[in-house]
Amino acid sequence: MKKHNFSAGPSILAPEVFEKASAALLDFEGTGLSVVEISHRSPEFVNIIERARALALEIAGLDDSYTALYLQGGASMQFLMVPYNLLERKAAYIDTGTWANKAQKEAALFGEAEVIASTKAEGYKHIPKNVNVPTDVDYLHITTNNTIYGTEYHALPECKVPLVADMSSDIFSRPLDYTQFSLIYAGSQKNLGASGSTLVIVKKDILGKVSRKLPSMMDYQLHIKSDSMYNTPSTFAVYVNYLVLEWLKAQGGLEAIGKRNAKKAALLYSEIDRNPLTVGYADRADRSLMNVTFNLTDEHTKDLFDSLWKEAGISGIKGHRSVGGYRASIYNAMPIESVQLLVEVLKEFERRA
Ligand SMILES: *Cc1c(COP(=O)(O)O)cnc(C)c1O
Repeated sequence: MKKHNFSAGPSILAPEVFEKASAALLDFEGTGLSVVEISHRSPEFVNIIERARALALEIAGLDDSYTALYLQGGASMQFLMVPYNLLERKAAYIDTGTWANKAQKEAALFGEAEVIASTKAEGYKHIPKNVNVPTDVDYLHITTNNTIYGTEYHALPECKVPLVADMSSDIFSRPLDYTQFSLIYAGSQKNLGASGSTLVIVKKDILGKVSRKLPSMMDYQLHIKSDSMYNTPSTFAVYVNYLVLEWLKAQGGLEAIGKRNAKKAALLYSEIDRNPLTVGYADRADRSLMNVTFNLTDEHTKDLFDSLWKEAGISGIKGHRSVGGYRASIYNAMPIESVQLLVEVLKEFERRA
């Protein structure tokens, strides 16, 4: 039986995407070859990666002053690739969780990476407000959605320097003015597809300003010049990414998916708030629409709750090992029916406890 997958990543994708990706493993678009054996330089694959790159910009509403790349090494590689390419004097970082913290630590290996705000002392339960962003920095780095704690920026910090964002867990989940960003990156395995590719969208004019020498694989400009084919991309991961972007466009793009995501999140949060046995982790104002984190009010009820969601065919709602509790990830591909099922399980849990 297919599970209701609430995992934080790798995570659920639309059934159509799974079907098309499975078919392409045997026969990629009628070529008689598998997507994992076809040459990445073949016209069929080049067409896919070009369409995926164009779709990413189209969905984000960005013009050709930006470009989209498919790189490898996950979002974690971008933690160092960003400062490699952009950090000359000093960069500013806002620390809103484990991933934001890791990004800052990597940047500090390359230069001055100042933490200008942090909510670590409050268990990363909220997003810092009214942050004063210095004007003498090369960029400000934020993490738009904090996957582990379940917080998300609902208003971006005011900032006059290039804004760089790790959007791994909320990219393309809501309407957003993407022109506010100079660079965004996202590992694929949350809202974009299979693990093994990282989408980087960069405003071209911010590049080429650092004095350090860049190793080839670290150089955004070289990847741009090579049409995101400097070396062999993960053909399968890029293909799945392409399918997800086509699916997203067919759903009605960011406007439509944003409405659906808001509805799903409201449904689940209202049950968590209503149910006397559960309590939300993140501050209400900063709650993530993608990762819903909560705890039980009475730890003695844990075995009952765990048995109920398992029986219902739910998978992947255990909280991250660093916060405990529960985390239901309800990314773009999560149908509202699965969220309704989880709400039913929570109600049944209350009746039985
Ligand atoms: C999952 C995640 C990462 C790590 O991504 P990898 O692709 O595994 O390197 C980084 N940042 C955020 C916000 C994440 O959710």
